[in-house]
Amino acid sequence: MPAHVSSSPAKPSTKAPLSLIALQIVRESLAPDTSLPKLSHLAESDPGFALRIMAMVNSAAFGPQRHVSDVRQAVSLVGIRGLRSIGMSLALSDMIPVGEAGRILLANSLRRAVASRLLAQRLGSKDVDEYFTTGLFLEVGLLARAREDLSGAAEVARLPAVHRVMHERAAGFADHPAAGASLASSFMLPAHVEAAVLQHHSDVPPDALPSRVAWAAERLAGMWEGGDPLLNRKLALDAVLSLGLSQGDLEEATKELPDMVVAAATAFDRDIGPQQSVESLLVDVNRCLLDMTHNYDIAVRRLEALLVQKDQLSSQLIEANAQLSRLATTDALTGLANKRAFEDALLRDLSRADRDQTWLTVVLSDIDYFKKVNDTYGHLTGDEVLRQVGRVFGSKLRGSDLSARYGGEEFILILPGSNAVGGKIVAERLRRTIEALKIAGPSGELAVTASFGVAGVCGPGCAGKMRDLILRADEALYAAKRGGRNRVVAAEPESTPVPG
Ligand code: GH3
Ligand code: MG
Ligand code: MG
Repeated sequence: MPAHVSSSPAKPSTKAPLSLIALQIVRESLAPDTSLPKLSHLAESDPGFALRIMAMVNSAAFGPQRHVSDVRQAVSLVGIRGLRSIGMSLALSDMIPVGEAGRILLANSLRRAVASRLLAQRLGSKDVDEYFTTGLFLEVGLLARAREDLSGAAEVARLPAVHRVMHERAAGFADHPAAGASLASSFMLPAHVEAAVLQHHSDVPPDALPSRVAWAAERLAGMWEGGDPLLNRKLALDAVLSLGLSQGDLEEATKELPDMVVAAATAFDRDIGPQQSVESLLVDVNRCLLDMTHNYDIAVRRLEALLVQKDQLSSQLIEANAQLSRLATTDALTGLANKRAFEDALLRDLSRADRDQTWLTVVLSDIDYFKKVNDTYGHLTGDEVLRQVGRVFGSKLRGSDLSARYGGEEFILILPGSNAVGGKIVAERLRRTIEALKIAGPSGELAVTASFGVAGVCGPGCAGKMRDLILRADEALYAAKRGGRNRVVAAEPESTPVPG
């Protein structure tokens, strides 16, 4: 709070009559036969209004520092034009609603008023209070809208200054410079005020000095009103330079502005809260940036976590699918291929043998007297025997071979590239290994044996001989059983000629 606001104005009894008397003062000041005594008389007629005039005159925000204690003195000090400005200012301030939205609207208007005054002062103008009033009216179009649509007007007022007109047009409203200018005209305000209001959002600086000062004030005020701080500063600097002022002038004006805005609010008997310095706004912007970066980091981390989760889920899905297909093709007890997988593999390997004209041999095996194992030691021991025999079938094979559990205690091998002689050798090796197994049973170790039937096939058309091949292996297996079990029997070779 600046020290030069000497008196705290008394609260006016009501707000509405104040506007009336303010407008009366404005009108009287414009009348051709006006005089200072007439104006003083009018001002004195409302004590509340008189106090407001003195508060304005004494306010550093409005004009040069002055100390007046009665309204006549104030009127004679500011003159007819000064009083007209004060009347206009007070009429305008009474248009602005109370409450949070009103505080924003008022702060924006005061910023433009003070900015205009500060720039006019640096330009050496004698009419700094007139510039103040012109600046104060820049947002009058928005203030008029606020009376019908407070939240809509407040929404515009909260936007960065550079975006407001675009937003208004996009929302289908008359933009506030045009609306404000026609309002100024209907209030019969001076032409330079109307022109300044109309042009304060122009892309290029207006020619007439009052409009150009207001245009620059708009950009200066914009530095406090959000958006890109660097862009705001550049716009303000360009505007100040377009007035023939310097960067130093901009620095000084930005330093002085916040306190003067608070002082102006006090002169209007309104509270707009503390106004931040540009530096602290920049700190806030930095804090905002930090927050944004922080939030962005969190969002990125969340996204990364989701992506990891997605990857995990998709690899879990792949694994689950693989497991499903394993389950569909694997025998649960032994972990070997099941009958279905065996048949698929045999079809595939037979067609390859057909195409490549190579041998393919199957070895069918059946555990001997397995029923007796179950009956003697129980099914759990029977299962263990199946697992151990299955392990024998699963090992000692080539990569291209396939072993499967074909049925209850029957196992089968596919040996691509092997003829019946080779198959017999493999089967014999397995037979011996099974025979040598020592399987833990409920009453000590037990041993089992298995019988084997071997059948090979080769040559053109072998792809269609799956059933025939298995049948021949089965016959050979039965021959082995009949022959005393624990042995290997090869089927009779096919009658078809076989390539050497
Ligand atoms: P052979 O020497 O003539 O083959 O006599 P075998 O007793 O082995 O033949 P059989 O076909 O009479 O008996 C097979 C037995 O295998 C009957 C069945 O209970 C048993 N079996 C089939 N599948 C399983 C299994 O998964 N677990 C257990 N424990 N036993 C099974
Ligand atoms: Mg058996
Ligand atoms: Mg059997």
